[in-house]
Amino acid sequence: MDTALYHRLLEAIRQLPAIDAHEHLPEEGERLSQPADVFTLFSHYTHNDLITAGMSREAYDRTQDAAVPLDERWAIFEPWWKLARHTSYCRAALIAVQRFYDADDITANNYAQISERIQAANTEGLYDRVLRQACGITKCLTQIGRIPQANRDLLVPVLPLTQWAEIADSAQVARRAAKVGMPVTTLSNYCEVIRSDLADLKNKGVVGFKIHAGIAPDKANREAAETQFARLMFSSGEHQQIVPGDALWTFIIHETIAACGELELPVSVHTGILWTNWQDFTVEHPRRLIPTILTHRQTRFDLYHAGIPWIREIGIIAKSYPNVWLNLCWVHIISQRLAIAALDEWLDLIPYNKILGFGGDYGKPVEKVYGHLQMAREDIAKVLAGRVTDGYFNEDEALNIARAWLFDNPNLQLQQTNSVLGENHLSFGGPQPESVQAC
Ligand SMILES: [Zn+2]
Repeated sequence: MDTALYHRLLEAIRQLPAIDAHEHLPEEGERLSQPADVFTLFSHYTHNDLITAGMSREAYDRTQDAAVPLDERWAIFEPWWKLARHTSYCRAALIAVQRFYDADDITANNYAQISERIQAANTEGLYDRVLRQACGITKCLTQIGRIPQANRDLLVPVLPLTQWAEIADSAQVARRAAKVGMPVTTLSNYCEVIRSDLADLKNKGVVGFKIHAGIAPDKANREAAETQFARLMFSSGEHQQIVPGDALWTFIIHETIAACGELELPVSVHTGILWTNWQDFTVEHPRRLIPTILTHRQTRFDLYHAGIPWIREIGIIAKSYPNVWLNLCWVHIISQRLAIAALDEWLDLIPYNKILGFGGDYGKPVEKVYGHLQMAREDIAKVLAGRVTDGYFNEDEALNIARAWLFDNPNLQLQQTNSVLGENHLSFGGPQPESVQAC
């Protein structure tokens, strides 16, 4: 590769604005309310690699306990850090300390000093300094299970899609109906409640709903769903909790996905690799989504994480179905080389307007959004420099593509969703908080 060309492109890409297409960032106040130190940078994802290296879960959890003295936590951490430090997960932490805490590395000699600097910087305006000023990010699509109550100039909510299909009992149906002021006696009534609720949430600034490939619904059976709904609502004495796989659950998921399409709300889908050790990631294979994608052609599907490790298969899915976009959230910190391979193949396969190039996918360590974005910019510059060198297009076109991946494509998606953006939303209640998971 032409190194000078790569660095020229990288520098130009660093000047571009970015829309962060997926995060789990809560309101800034939540981060500021907790003690912060060097281990804050290892509070997300890196635990996977430390544990894979050989660290026990109990030892890892101890590094995250601020009540344990810092030097004791470092002694637990250091042997595994030395082994895991070259993974992409860990690189984001190293870039973050270089950019924000004036340190070249994280070592026995400087962990205490880095910790002091992180705590000193854990003050109001942290999000603005990191996300807006250092990263050039204009919006973060965040999933925290509810609508954020603050920082709405930056944080744009995406909520769980399964919330209407998960039904504990008939009283829960009645509460949801009362919330939108509609009576419910039939399944059709309940579907109207879902549509009304979705429209209301969209008016409050919600820009999408999330599901994961592992629970992609089977074909809907309306008759079986109506029977189950009637039993839920009118048979007494039995606990009738509705769970994934039930006919009623499946029907409601399909209805919700269809309603998202009608309301121009995209459906986000986790695909591939999972976020902790000891899980069977094969259940999240992107191919499980194909029947759903085919059934709901009016709904936009925003497929996350490049379907890792099935980057080629998800590329063919995006090539085949015009209602699919590919979102590289989380991908650059899983493996930069894999991200480069995916983008390079996808340039052959997919029109470049269908790729969303970056999503940090962090909760607490907001500084690592910068590290991740820097890695994304490097990956994009490498792929595009290779293409320019090989004569596919010129540097101007390379920058057009980079801008599309980092800003224009997610921005067009937000415009299509037709949400009110660029102004502070009022604070709204939204659904009840759920436990926040990564990815
Ligand atoms: Zn995520």
